[in-house]
This record gives sequence, C-alpha cells and structure tokens, in this order.
Amino acid sequence: MKGILKTTLFLTALLTSNVMAAPQDWQKIKRPVTGEPTPIGSYTNGCIIGAQALPYKGDGYQVIRMNKNRYYGHPDMIKYLQRLGKKVKDAGMPTMLIGDIAMPGGGRFLTGHASHQMGLDADIWLRMGMMSDQDALNSDGKGLLVVNRKAQRVDDSIWNGNHAELIRLAAQDTQVSRIFVNPAIKLKLCQTVKGDRSWLQKIRPWFGHDSHFHVRLTCPADAAYCENQTPVAAGDGCGAELYSWFEPKKPSAEPIKPKVTPPEPFLCQQVLTSPNRSEWLE
Ligand SMILES: [Zn+2]
Repeated sequence: MKGILKTTLFLTALLTSNVMAAPQDWQKIKRPVTGEPTPIGSYTNGCIIGAQALPYKGDGYQVIRMNKNRYYGHPDMIKYLQRLGKKVKDAGMPTMLIGDIAMPGGGRFLTGHASHQMGLDADIWLRMGMMSDQDALNSDGKGLLVVNRKAQRVDDSIWNGNHAELIRLAAQDTQVSRIFVNPAIKLKLCQTVKGDRSWLQKIRPWFGHDSHFHVRLTCPADAAYCENQTPVAAGDGCGAELYSWFEPKKPSAEPIKPKVTPPEPFLCQQVLTSPNRSEWLE
C-alpha cells in the first residue's frame, strides 16, 4: 500500500487542510487516477485509485450511457462483469446492458447516485439485447420498466424468465455482497424461484431499481482502505422485512434531522490535491 502513496500521492499533501471536496471536483477527473488499484472509503463516501475502463463491448455485454463517462471500476468489478457477460452468452440470453459503474476516480456524483463511489457498484439494465452505438452513447429514456408502480407489483406482461435468470447469475458470484432491486422484483423472485434459493439472501429490496438492478461487490481481500457494509442477515429475506416495504408509511416519531455530508476519506482528498492531478483532470 505504501506504493500508492509513493507513486501517485504527494506525502506533503498530508499537511493540507481538511477541506471538503465539491462533487464537481470528481466530475472533472476524466481519466483513472494512476496507481495500484485501491478502493478507498465506503460505497457512499469514497473514491478509487487505479480504476479500469470496461471495454465497451464484450462477450454477452454492452456498455451503455457512455456519454456519462461512468464505466470505470475496480479491476475486480471489470472482471466480474466480463465473467457475467460470458455466462449470459453461454446461457443463450440476449446481450446484457451495463449502465453506470463509477467515474474514473470514483467519488461523489452531482446527480444520480448516492453510492457507486469506489468502483465496486454497477447498474445492470433489465432491458436486454444490443443497442445501436448511438443509443448506447445516450441511453436516457431507453430503459425498460418492469414494475407497475401504482400496483407495486411486477408487470407480468413485461417480466420474463431472462430477468430472473440474469439476476440469479449476477447474484451467484461469490464476490457479490448485495444486489438491490425494487421490492416488487424481490417479491416476484420470492414467489417464483424454485430449487436453490440461497442466492435470494443477497437480493435486497430498495427504492427505485425497477428498470435496472444494482450489484455491489465486497471489498477485495487486500483492500486496506475499503469498508465493507454489514453482512446481510441470514435467510432468503422473503418474510416480514420484505412485506414492510408494501405497507403505508407510518409517520415518524423522531424529528427529521438535516442531512450532514461527512468529509471524504483523507486519501480521497489527497487525490484531488495531488500535484499529479493534471494527469487525470480534463
Ligand atoms: Zn446503482
């Protein structure tokens, strides 16, 4: 780990003051920060040194939303997506469309995501099949909504076996810690998955996620600065917790506290203040 400090970060930056970076600082990073692949911080407050770009087409997959420049990830994520693409292809399924991973240096987004900050999160669309290069460049509005939002249930005229199979293949990889889906999708899987149901444990209900799902990998074994999330509870998660998502919201007894943005991890601040930064800025 000393290597990254030596090669990419200037040690005297340790003396820089604890100034909080603005999200636009991370948008300005146009190329991966050079150094040993190092995810730093947490999924919702971090950055990545040594990210790699996912090649825009490969066996069984295609990168979309390319105009957003969010197709960079930790090498583990890149390998995971390529591995998953091969499984999709071998299963004879339509091409998997990969949306946002992380920005070249990770970090906070101006719009769109609370997480995806360390290159260990990726969005996979529920629309499947190759897009034209033009559509892959700007994919806004081209998703496939599989949930009837009013009914809070999967739309059975749209949902099909490939959706369930894609999520299963994505979840069964040992590097995956969680997959976020809309509660209606989790319910559908709970009601329909036969045989091995152990992978359902990783499928977590969350807001939105009704035209894509979100894969989160665990921190790589040697990643000293990467904070894992608490492990998911035992069981398939098809019980009371899932059903609570469909109940009307109870008014909270607690007063709503204003959101406080925590300062970024120190090593991430150093990325932004490094004297080498011209190498990766626009
Ligand atoms: Zn996501």
